Amino acid sequence: KEEQTDFSAALNVMSSVGKVVGVVSGKGGVGKSLVTSLLAVAMNRKSYRSAILDADMTGPSIPKAFGINGKAAGNEWGLLPSKSKTGIEVMSINLLLENETDPVVWRGPIIGNTVKQFWTEVIWSDVDYMFIDMPPGTGDVPLTVFQSIPVDGIIVVTSPQELVSMVVTKAVKMAEMMNIPILGLVENMSFFKCPDNGKEYQLFGESHIEQIAEKHHLHTLAKIPIDPKLAAACDNGTIEDFQENWMDPVVSILEKMEKK
Ligand code: ADP
Repeated sequence: KEEQTDFSAALNVMSSVGKVVGVVSGKGGVGKSLVTSLLAVAMNRKSYRSAILDADMTGPSIPKAFGINGKAAGNEWGLLPSKSKTGIEVMSINLLLENETDPVVWRGPIIGNTVKQFWTEVIWSDVDYMFIDMPPGTGDVPLTVFQSIPVDGIIVVTSPQELVSMVVTKAVKMAEMMNIPILGLVENMSFFKCPDNGKEYQLFGESHIEQIAEKHHLHTLAKIPIDPKLAAACDNGTIEDFQENWMDPVVSILEKMEKK
């Protein structure tokens, strides 16, 4: 069993952060960053001040999805997050690197400390909901994040592949071990709706999400289709313009969630 969480990483004195939601996945590439972005956008549209702490240090994709290119600025009190065009605050390693294509070839403890600094040394202004795009899997860095940042709840992102059902169970169990409430599951790439005949096709075969949800007494909050327009929006930095209400059921859960 893991040692107790110490929360030694105190929030920057100039910051004010309400609820903290970790977005996790068992493995990379299932759409965790996409779901993180859609959640921040959905809450922002509801007039909650949203922020994203991009803790996915080796695959930081948040700035790109929001079309944020500039470098993060700082002052004597700390580092300032960048703001998206609709006012979502973002901090990501890509806003600090010389070139966004530079790889982060760092040892685990250094990566973990940098994520901690995103909490301790960034001046987050009045944030109602902070979403943390967690590194995929159950390794060193996610562990550091869970132990040093007070995460109030977790959303687990899955995709309907067989392997993922086993991998996602690992992520669910990790959250259970860390004593962080799991708010629910979001299935991404659930189906493809053919624009020609309107039929829905399950490209990855039948989904196992309901079994996983039932086994862990969780709810499936949303199912997101495969949509080439979504991939394009992530690529060209226009995720905020994407008009869909897939996240509405998650929004109502987030509105009801409590601070741990
Ligand atoms: P992760 O954070 O889990 O590694 P991403 O959110 O970065 O995954 O998604 C991986 C890639 O798949 C991105 O290029 C993204 O635009 C694309 N993608 C994710 N979900 C969808 C979807 N539902 N429809 C189309 N493309 C998607």
